[in-house]
Amino acid sequence: MMQIKSLSEETVNQISAGEVVERPSHLVKELVENALDAGADEIEVDFEQGGRFVKVKDNGCGIPHNEMILALNRHTTSKINRIEDLCRLKTYGFRGEALASMASVSDLTLISALKGSDSPYRLRQVFGKKEKQDQIGGASGTTVIIRSLFENTPARLKFLKSEGAETSSIKNTVKALALARPDACFRILQKSKLVFYWPPQESFLDRTRQVLGIKDLYFTERENGAYKIRAVVAPPHQTLKNKKNNWFFVSSRWVESKVIQAGLMSAYRGLLMHGEFPLAVIWLEGPGDEIDVNAHPAKSQIRFKNSSFIFKLVESPIRSLLEQAPWTKKITQRLAGREENLQFSQSYFKNTQFPLKQKEYSTKVLSSLSWSKPPHLKEDFEKRDPEPVEYKNVSSEDSPTQKNWSSLQVLAQAHLTYIICQSDKALVFIDQHASHERILYEK
Ligand code: ADP
Ligand code: MG
Repeated sequence: MMQIKSLSEETVNQISAGEVVERPSHLVKELVENALDAGADEIEVDFEQGGRFVKVKDNGCGIPHNEMILALNRHTTSKINRIEDLCRLKTYGFRGEALASMASVSDLTLISALKGSDSPYRLRQVFGKKEKQDQIGGASGTTVIIRSLFENTPARLKFLKSEGAETSSIKNTVKALALARPDACFRILQKSKLVFYWPPQESFLDRTRQVLGIKDLYFTERENGAYKIRAVVAPPHQTLKNKKNNWFFVSSRWVESKVIQAGLMSAYRGLLMHGEFPLAVIWLEGPGDEIDVNAHPAKSQIRFKNSSFIFKLVESPIRSLLEQAPWTKKITQRLAGREENLQFSQSYFKNTQFPLKQKEYSTKVLSSLSWSKPPHLKEDFEKRDPEPVEYKNVSSEDSPTQKNWSSLQVLAQAHLTYIICQSDKALVFIDQHASHERILYEK
């Protein structure tokens, strides 16, 4: 056995840097969170080389010049004094290790001036070695510049993904930070060129529209005891193949949470196909002593005291919102406003009577369907949908159901979602998604 000895502070910092700033986007998150903790409402992030260069500038309270050295030391924080303070935590930071970790694996410059001062101090630490502090000119607030990230830790450098992948992780992170705080203004630059500009917004809905660039979104909120939930969701026909657009925030903290995810998916039950995910942003607030934020060094995981309560808290308001299907109101309102336009001329209707051979593909597809339900859809179908219309006048040898489908005349496709058909007795809307799933199932 080798002799047991204490690790040098430099080595300890480098090891802990692996947890706190595993990749550049984590570093961006820590720096922006520090800015928000300092009360900043204007934050500028500039990055290059997939985040090996990062500069974050804020208009927050600043750091007293005689405390700047402390800020770069490990386990130094202005945010808590003892572990009990975590229950009342109002800040993102509390571990006092982000700046120290970064400063041990990069060439870091900290520039800061207290509010009202126009002569900031500058302190540089190059791969763990502090240089002499000096005074420079400039605005109040704090700027942190990171250069040559992981240059002294080749092992970490090797684990970085491609510049493109790191860049998109950074963009994702700044989106999350902006979603968390609609009241703050964010300017994001890549190689000094503006890529995102998000001025403050009045509401969570507006912020979501601004950041995700999607307009067709719906908002709901509910309070339950000391808890409050807000959610913005997209209609169930706008789905994704992954969870990339499921954003969860607990007390403004961007987190991963299986419970929130489960509550969300349950709210969408029966509305999504297998492997589809909704677009949803959820903000949850609750009492500090029932939410443990100290479950992971990167602070991306949290623990709830009562997960089944959280599950229902998430599921219930979103389910109610989806059941009202507010997006259909928009369509009907639009149509109502255009009633006159709906009075088509006789010639228009003639055009809708396509000769059958043009729809060969669709009718072939439809004829492969039958009314019986696949087992995994059965329960939901029975709970939610009335029995489908039965078609009569069926010819002898074909199975009744097959003949029914193939006898439908396809008129059109609507919103890339429904196939609209007619028979001699009824107008039939077929959910294209569901029928495709059905065909795969039959195959
Ligand atoms: P933590 O955020 O957990 O306290 P950090 O290492 O991130 O630890 O920061 C250490 C301390 O430096 C903070 O507690 C805060 O007092 C100060 N600090 C860091 N960034 C800023 C900033 N942008 N504005 C003002 N103070 C800051
Ligand atoms: Mg911090």
